[in-house]
Amino acid sequence: MALPRVVAVAPGSPADRAGVLPGDEIVALDGQLPRDIIEYQLLADQERLGLEVSRGGLELALKVEREGGEPLGLEIGAALFDRVRTCDNHCEFCFIHQLPTGMRRSLYVRDDDYRLSFLYGNFTTLTRFTEADLERVVSEGLSPLFVSVHATDPDVRARMLRNRRGATSLRWLRALLDAGVEVHGQVVVCPGVNDGPILEGTLTGVLDEYPELSSLACVPLGVSRFNREVAMRPHSPDEANAVVDLVEEWQELFLSCLGRRLVYAADEYYLLAARPFPPLESYGAVAQHDNGIGMSRAFEASFEGRNLVEELGGRAPSGFFRSLEGAPALGYRAPRQAPGVVTLRPRRSAGVTVLTGEYGARVIEPLVAPLQGDVQVVAVRNEFFGGNIAVAGLLTGSDVAAALADLPRGRRYLLPDSCLSAGRFLDGSGLEDLPQPVEVVGADGASLRKAIAPALELAR
Ligand code: SF4
Repeated sequence: MALPRVVAVAPGSPADRAGVLPGDEIVALDGQLPRDIIEYQLLADQERLGLEVSRGGLELALKVEREGGEPLGLEIGAALFDRVRTCDNHCEFCFIHQLPTGMRRSLYVRDDDYRLSFLYGNFTTLTRFTEADLERVVSEGLSPLFVSVHATDPDVRARMLRNRRGATSLRWLRALLDAGVEVHGQVVVCPGVNDGPILEGTLTGVLDEYPELSSLACVPLGVSRFNREVAMRPHSPDEANAVVDLVEEWQELFLSCLGRRLVYAADEYYLLAARPFPPLESYGAVAQHDNGIGMSRAFEASFEGRNLVEELGGRAPSGFFRSLEGAPALGYRAPRQAPGVVTLRPRRSAGVTVLTGEYGARVIEPLVAPLQGDVQVVAVRNEFFGGNIAVAGLLTGSDVAAALADLPRGRRYLLPDSCLSAGRFLDGSGLEDLPQPVEVVGADGASLRKAIAPALELAR
């Protein structure tokens, strides 16, 4: 087990006053060594705290005193100090199996760890979940969690996960719901495998067995050009239409039985089926926003300057990242921009081009088309992953570079921060490798609107 390593100390914070330094390793908090950032936070949540740290081979005992709920002021370098629990499944639809070789190692980690589900919204199949885990989830209030359902038919689920435990592990979903834990589910819909009657059976199964589920996202299978599984293929537009029809039919059923829609089809389905997105208010709390559920409608509302919180009845659309004191700067989901990345000052005299994925372009184009000003949208094709991968979050530096090389000089180029993790693209390249400078903007509508404002003012 690794010792929690301090990567930053907030100036003037209780930890700073006690003399903790970046680089210190925490040996114990009040005599105990936490297993992960969740336990760390529970141990650290006291007014007076004994902190043992290791510094350059020396062990030091420090006393931390906090006043009136002050945050401790430490940033820790990892979320888990023991080992991440990896999955024991071999799903034929697994995107990690469809990655090319040579990418950074963390991208190949197939985690199935309920703690990462709580911390970052990663989905867990529960095939390695235990009674002790359930006790911890309940006693520490680790809620909400995100569970991969895929199919409620035990045989289909076991086949899809290629793990016989897949047939029985949804019993833990029942136990979590019985214990009052908020759970969001997902079905990765693989055409010819768990769509059609199987998907209908899954929705029936959810209504019968797991009606307390907070939401269920139906997301389409992503197939990269590195896929080796012959049965895995992208949806056709007709198949996408059929999924949307089924989901919308079941939304009505859930609404009449449970008073809420519960099941949602990912935005990708609407784009593939060339159908308009449902209105924002039909997405409830947009609880699976980062899973592509209601993301386009939320983007549109934020671009138009509407008050999302008000429209959603006082709830902000929830992203996955939970704010936890001490949570790592570089965890499994790193901040998108690297610390210190320079955001260029917009040149007010230039036209602006928004670079985004093919799906993102289809959402943004109709928003900017009616505006007066030199604003263009360029859909960057994902040649790196190929297949049906068209979301902005999976754009790589090589594809952005190829697009920029063919675009004129002297314009402002905007890029959503969702394709960066700690300032690096998925292919390991960075902004410095691009042939023209770009401005990185937040992936929400309001940030884009602000970034294109100079070009709109110019047209006035
Ligand atoms: S559970 Fe997730 S990580 Fe594991 S094989 Fe299946 S898709 Fe891949």
